[in-house]
Amino acid sequence: MNKDIEKVLISEEEISSRCRLLASELEMNYKDLEEPLLIVGLLKGSVPFMAELMKRFTIPCEIDFMKVSSYVGTKSVGDVKINKDLDHTCDGKCVLIVEDIIDTGKTIKAVKQMFYNKGAKDVKIVALLDKPEGRQVDIEADYVGFTIPNEFVVGYGLDYDQKYRNLPYVGVLSPSVYTK
Ligand code: 5GP
Ligand code: MG
Ligand code: MG
Repeated sequence: MNKDIEKVLISEEEISSRCRLLASELEMNYKDLEEPLLIVGLLKGSVPFMAELMKRFTIPCEIDFMKVSSYVGTKSVGDVKINKDLDHTCDGKCVLIVEDIIDTGKTIKAVKQMFYNKGAKDVKIVALLDKPEGRQVDIEADYVGFTIPNEFVVGYGLDYDQKYRNLPYVGVLSPSVYTK
């Protein structure tokens, strides 16, 4: 185990078996789509989770990525700023947003609204992790991998200061890392 990790919250095996179940649930719900599903990963945290899910899909799909960041200032599209926009149009499409973790809910709420503003027909959210205790706005993911307590976690895409995204599990950082 990485020396900066105090404890493993979710192991690699748990993530992989949960993703298998999630993927089959998603497949079932999207099986009657008339056009390809547009799967959009929010960079960078969603990358391992998105890869794990999409390789199990047999339904027609397209993938794209978006990068957003918290935005302090005017509130025309919620509290997020787009750093990298979609390559695809999403007019009339069914969109599945893939997110690493939902905490306050502000990011995903604003992003969901953005997709509807761009003309998406349907927008659903799948999140690897959910911290319901952190919620400040009224939004829920449609699909959640794991519900976790209100702790700061890293690994499996999630970073602290851009590090630890490569860990194959989700863990809690040792306090010594913050006080370095
Ligand atoms: P929110 O739901 O508060 O708008 O923001 C979610 C974003 O905050 C996530 O995409 C992630 O970048 C960051 N975040 C929230 N909780 C955690 C956490 O426990 N660990 C890490 N590494 N990032 C988090
Ligand atoms: Mg994120
Ligand atoms: Mg981060």
